[in-house]
Order: sequence, then C-alpha cells, then structure tokens
Amino acid sequence: MQICNHSIDKYQSKLVALGQKDELTDIANRRFFMSSIKQLAQKEQSNYFILTLDLDHFKKLNDQYGHAVGDQALINVANTINTIIPNGSLLARLGGEEFAILLYSDTRDHAIAISNNIRVAIAEHSITTSKGEKVNCTTSIGISPLTLDFSASMQLSDKALYQAKEKGRNCVVFLNNIPVQAENNEYKN
Ligand code: GH3
Ligand code: MG
Ligand code: MG
Repeated sequence: MQICNHSIDKYQSKLVALGQKDELTDIANRRFFMSSIKQLAQKEQSNYFILTLDLDHFKKLNDQYGHAVGDQALINVANTINTIIPNGSLLARLGGEEFAILLYSDTRDHAIAISNNIRVAIAEHSITTSKGEKVNCTTSIGISPLTLDFSASMQLSDKALYQAKEKGRNCVVFLNNIPVQAENNEYKN
C-alpha cells in the first residue's frame, strides 16, 4: 500500500463522503489515520514512523487573539507540514490542536531530521491577523517506529510527545521500544 500526498488529494472527495477528512484543515482525520496505520502495520511497517504533535500553549494563543485566529494557525500548521513530509507520508488532525504523521523514511536518523525540520518550520511560519499582528506557535513532537503492533507504536509516540512537553516543549523526542535506554534521544536546537 502506498499513501502519497497526491493520492490523498485524489481521494479528497472520497474522504468527505466517508467522513474521513478534517473539515477545518482539509487533511485526513483520526479515523482515516488509524485505519491507515493499521493496514500498513500488517504489511510493510519497516520504513514508517509515527509522529504525534501537539501545539504548545495553544489555549494562550486562542485567549490572546481569538478562536478564529487559532483556527487560521491550525490551517497554517497543516499546510506547513504538508510542504515538508515526503511522498508516501500521511498527515492527519487527531482533534483539537493535535496532529499525527505517518512518516515514510528509510532511516531513523532521517525521520528524526524531518521531525526537527517540521518543528522549526512551524515555529518560523507566522500568520498575520486582520490587525496586522504576527502570530507564531510552536509544537512538541513525539516519534516512534511503526511496528506490527500499531496500537503500541501509537502509545509509544504519545509517550514521547509527553516527554517532549515535560522537557520544555518546542522539541522532538524519539522513543524506540528496544532497547529503551540506549535508543532514547532528545533533539532541540
Ligand atoms: P500544552 O502546551 O500543554 O499542550 O498547552 P495547550 O494550551 O496547547 O493545551 P490545552 O489542552 O490546555 O489547550 C488546548 C487548546 O486548544 C484549548 C482549545 O481552546 C484549543 N483548541 C482545540 N481545538 C481547537 C480548534 O478547533 N480551534 C481553535 N481555535 N482552538 C482549538
Ligand atoms: Mg492537546
Ligand atoms: Mg497543546
């Protein structure tokens, strides 16, 4: 199974019909994401990684600039990520200010490098409000390899995201299940 950005475009109308698209950002929703990783985990999981992203202090952004600006920031984040992820990857909005990426990459190091590129790009791509204010947000990212047990992979990625928040946000944490200590890494510029 090959999931490409252009394939996703091609399936947009289908996604709407099946209720698998996120209305605000025009990307896949949680349901489509979960069914995709389930299918991939059964066949060819070795070159895929799961990234979970949660925007930092997003409540503050909403409180300061209003919900409509918050919505624009979410759309901006989705567009920014879509310009970075390689073909064969899938971006979804899990809900609220949380996103997930099924990232296609040959190596762990490359996957981590892309994750860091995404983190930096989100921090740098501001939106401008109708009053001319520039608004930026940052994101914390958890990353783990996709394994046969997609549910455990998702949980591991979530755990990595939680650790990224704990470490101060705006950073990437990679977690691999074996061996836990030796493979754990934190990346922050
Ligand atoms: P943290 O760094 O710990 O993730 O802090 P946070 O403020 O991002 O997390 P919290 O869970 O406290 O707040 C999430 C905020 O995201 C609150 C909610 O108003 C906002 N949010 C969720 N969904 C949407 C949406 O669709 N549009 C807008 N504008 N805001 C949303
Ligand atoms: Mg959240
Ligand atoms: Mg948040």
